[in-house]
Amino acid sequence: MLVHGLSSHKGQNVITAIRLRLAQHLTVARLRVLQRVRRVKCSFVRIYLVNCSEAERAEVHTIDPRHVEKVGRLLQSKLGIKGRIPHVVVVCFGRRARLDLAPGAIADSLRSGRGWGAWVRQEGAAAALFNDIVPIRKIMIHEVTHALLHILANGFPYPRALEEGIAKMMEFYAFGERPRDDDKGNDHASAEHRNLMPAECVTVHSLLTIDPRRKKDGTDWDGNSLIVLTNRSFWLSCYLGELAKSRVALRSMLYTLRVNNIRGGEAVYEWLQQSTGLDASALERGFNSFCVTGSTDV
Ligand SMILES: [Zn+2]
Repeated sequence: MLVHGLSSHKGQNVITAIRLRLAQHLTVARLRVLQRVRRVKCSFVRIYLVNCSEAERAEVHTIDPRHVEKVGRLLQSKLGIKGRIPHVVVVCFGRRARLDLAPGAIADSLRSGRGWGAWVRQEGAAAALFNDIVPIRKIMIHEVTHALLHILANGFPYPRALEEGIAKMMEFYAFGERPRDDDKGNDHASAEHRNLMPAECVTVHSLLTIDPRRKKDGTDWDGNSLIVLTNRSFWLSCYLGELAKSRVALRSMLYTLRVNNIRGGEAVYEWLQQSTGLDASALERGFNSFCVTGSTDV
């Protein structure tokens, strides 16, 4: 019963699934003790609204379950997994909610002030904050993507930039929107902006080998650097998408990396070169040109 929804996935680790469900139950129970919580179901996503106003609740109710379902199906196909989409818990905090009363790991990751949402593995739940800048539906889809990549791939560690790029891409794909150029981050692509970028965000190699704990200059990731990282990761996803038009192996990248246990940025970088037939310098030249002109030209 505890693994309901996950048991049908071939190769799924049952113990991991049980742990996840247990963490989810505990998280929700702890939330309910201290704050006003309402539950809303949206396709495979269980949304818990914490101290949300009527307007905030109404905003969540406008999210079309078909859009959420679309994301789940695409991620399943990218990962080569069939069957029912496992359910994902998202805790949505209203503007008046008290984050200090949220379960520990959620409060910690949101308090760090690094963004409007987080997939918090320890709690088995994603968190999303209502704010006046990014719509809650986009935050939810972004974090649900992180959650599903983790759950469906059974914790397989894809390089962070690949996950961020896909999560950002889903924010547009879910709602049938086309990203604007500045969403893709190419406003950061001029030589002047590149000089201001964290070193991790400049090349394909640096993006794939990011240390999520701290930047290469020894300082911690701050909010602005993380925004650049997410945008550049998205741009990397767009670049790989362009390359995939003529290089079919790239279309099943997530599946191939997982089933062949290709882990770590260096190994993935190597795999990219083999599967595209481009050596490191051609791959980097292509990415650089794509960031500046929008064309791969390799
Ligand atoms: Zn993210």
